[in-house]
This record gives sequence, C-alpha cells and structure tokens, in this order.
Amino acid sequence: MPVVDTRKVDAGIAHVPGEGAPALAVGDTVTAELDWDRRYRHMRVHTALHVMCSRVVGGVTGGQIGDGKGRLDFDLLPENVPDKDALAGVLNDLIAADHPLTISWITDAELSSNPDLVRTMSVKPPMGAGRVRMIRIGDAVDYQPCGGTHVKSTGEIGRVAITKIENKGKQNRRINLALVD
Ligand SMILES: [Zn+2]
Repeated sequence: MPVVDTRKVDAGIAHVPGEGAPALAVGDTVTAELDWDRRYRHMRVHTALHVMCSRVVGGVTGGQIGDGKGRLDFDLLPENVPDKDALAGVLNDLIAADHPLTISWITDAELSSNPDLVRTMSVKPPMGAGRVRMIRIGDAVDYQPCGGTHVKSTGEIGRVAITKIENKGKQNRRINLALVD
C-alpha cells in the first residue's frame, strides 16, 4: 500500500495511505518500507540544490524537490542571473571534486547571532530544540542549517543539468536542475 502523502501534524508526522487502504485502529502495528531508489534520487537532488545555492548570489525564496529534479527560487539582481550552461559547468565541477558532507550542531543562539548562515528566506531553519543541525560541504562550498537527507559526498550526485531558468516576478528567478544519470 503506497503512502501518497506525508504531513506534519500536532502529534508528529502523518503518513497518508492511498485509496483502498485497510482501515486502521489506534494501536495497530504497521510496517513501513522505504522506497530506497526514490529516496536516494531525492538525496542526490537535495544535495545538488545545496551546491547550486552556494554558487548563486541571492537569497532563496522557495524551492521544491521532485523525483530526479528540483528547483530553487532566488531573489536575484539582473546582473547576478547566471547563464544556465555556465552554472551547470560550475556545479558539475564541484560535484566531480567529490567534496565530503559533514554534519555538526550549533545552538539556536549561535544561529540567531549569525543570521547570514540562513540562505532560505522561505523555509525556517530547524530551530526550537535548542540546537540546530548544520550541513557543511567540503571546506567552504556550502554551510547552512538543514534537517534534510543528503548524500555523503558530492560525487554521489552525478552529473546535473540546469534545465531552465524562469522569470517569476520582478527579481525572482526559478532555477531548475535535473539529474542527468
Ligand atoms: Zn539539506
């Protein structure tokens, strides 16, 4: 029975089954199975978006991850809008350099006193538990708070393409990325 949606609810995370699922009672035991191939593509795309974020000069105003592709919206000055093939080249070089990802933790207070660490204006960093999970790529490729799933090093992403850069308002540009392999 596939899970068709996952939502944050007061009690935690709700996994929503597809139509025709058997009715469950409180206390029933269920076994969940991860669709690893799909998850791994999500991890590769998500990590690729970190790399992209590190090389585009503007705040992130939105984003989405799909199967094998993803996008980020940036608040970009006209002179900072990248050429899509040039950007793909820069990203593929960083990916091929196989930079390791490392996880560390800082306190909520440390993050609050370093607001520049937060690149995404639309998604709040995972604060509130007293400490914040930080993701670093290489020594200085990218460093930002994130609660998501990532690959261990950029080489796992494989080649990417920038499929299109869309105009989404005055200074808003949507940069779409896809896995090539
Ligand atoms: Zn992340």
